Amino acid sequence: MKETIRIKDKLFRLLVPKKEIDQAVERVAREISLDYEGKEPLFLCILNGSFIFAADLLRKITVPCTVSFVKCSSYSGTRSTQYVRNLIGLNEDLVNRDVIIVEDIIDTGLTVSNLLKDIRKKDPASLRIAAFSFKKEAFMADFKIDYLCMEVPDRFIVGYGLDYDGFGRNLGEIYQLATE
Ligand code: 5GP
Repeated sequence: MKETIRIKDKLFRLLVPKKEIDQAVERVAREISLDYEGKEPLFLCILNGSFIFAADLLRKITVPCTVSFVKCSSYSGTRSTQYVRNLIGLNEDLVNRDVIIVEDIIDTGLTVSNLLKDIRKKDPASLRIAAFSFKKEAFMADFKIDYLCMEVPDRFIVGYGLDYDGFGRNLGEIYQLATE
């Protein structure tokens, strides 16, 4: 496990080691499995960033469940454009389903806010949010994160599904931007 890595023009420092990530995902999977006992939740994962978290989380869920993917984007480079686009729409039947949104990171909260509006129109029985990480200081929305692995500082991070210009998603650890 490297303390410092370089991706393209930027230097990143280790923020969260793999062991800590595994423990947090395990805890959240346990919380969800307990809360959804006797139900069959639908996990709606937000691409691209959540694919690793979703894969790890889903394999630890002990209740029967289904999974689907939605693609949104609000970032270019290391700065939020505050412009949210749904690239791949929702074509799943959500009526009477217990839906859990799976997100890699909640920053301003705009992506999930928009998604919540769209999903509520589809009459799910319930709707909750599971996020891997949360930048509390950047948050501007008003929804509650029901299941959270960890809070992170308000700095650009990569790894565990999160990228810098397409790179770094495959890193097993979370790294934080060292220079800006
Ligand atoms: P929000 O709409 O909450 O501001 O941003 C959510 C999306 O922005 C996330 O799904 C993620 O793709 C991207 N994002 C926010 N913060 C970071 C970050 O620190 N690093 C990376 N790689 N992406 C981020």
